Amino acid sequence: MLFITISKNGIFSNMQNKLFSVKNKKILITGASSGLGRHYALTLANAGAFVIVCGRREQLLNEVVNEIKANNGKAKMLILDVTKFKESEEKLKELYSQIEGVDILINNAGCTARVKRPILDVTLEDWDEIIDTNLKSVWNISNITAKYMHKYSIKGSIINISSTVANRARIGNSIYGISKSAVVSLTQKLALEYAQFGIRVNAIAPGFFETDINSAFVKSEAGQELLKRSIPVARKGEFDELNGALFLFASNASTYITGECLFVDGGYIINSIV
Ligand code: NAD
Repeated sequence: MLFITISKNGIFSNMQNKLFSVKNKKILITGASSGLGRHYALTLANAGAFVIVCGRREQLLNEVVNEIKANNGKAKMLILDVTKFKESEEKLKELYSQIEGVDILINNAGCTARVKRPILDVTLEDWDEIIDTNLKSVWNISNITAKYMHKYSIKGSIINISSTVANRARIGNSIYGISKSAVVSLTQKLALEYAQFGIRVNAIAPGFFETDINSAFVKSEAGQELLKRSIPVARKGEFDELNGALFLFASNASTYITGECLFVDGGYIINSIV
């Protein structure tokens, strides 16, 4: 008989075969000082993983680490600006040599356009900032991490964070959407080429979860209208509602899944056009 329980914070615990377990896994998360990255770090540490929280804001990262340690979890922080490609490489090489690689990488750091403009007015600076942060960094950090997974014979898992805007156009945020479409494509290409090393690469595409990146829009009249009219379940997502996809891709439950993108969006992308 199979016993499956769901604990109060939504984590599956399978009493017999630990299919979704991340216990003692080493997990590196970028952009972990706030929002969803912070949530992934706290959730995975709570499930027994050793998390390395990366970001640019030292004080916020410290707070995440302290909160994890206060709950008897294991964590360390690394100051990492993902757009500083060479510096990222040097810092990650040093870290991975010390801790002998990681089992799981979550490429979560991301940004939208600082100024929302129609595509006619988008600047080269807009392109550079968004593509460097959301796309080139994913390629850069995945490659460095995969090399060390291979070096230490780790059959690892890489999770990239895309978005529903990968499949939808929204006026004023086009380059962000393009970057997130490209993350899905990059996920497939990395999955294909890393398969020979036993490394899986998948993506999660969240819908609307209120964080710093979108709270002004979510709170606005247009945002509230969108939640009601365009999302079949008619509401924003709660952070814990990402845990199913997170544990699926992080654990051995997905050993035969690679190159996949899972939408966690209350049905937003399958809504009818009218
Ligand atoms: P957030 O702004 O709280 O988190 C983004 C994190 O990335 C921040 O901590 C930010 O400081 C960090 N970051 C940005 N540029 C960086 C850089 N150069 N180096 C290092 N870190 C950097 O917003 P969030 O909603 O938690 O976003 C997390 C991820 O989820 C992003 O990739 C975002 O595109 C994606 N996403 C979010 C939603 C949502 O509804 N919140 C929906 C779809 C996708």
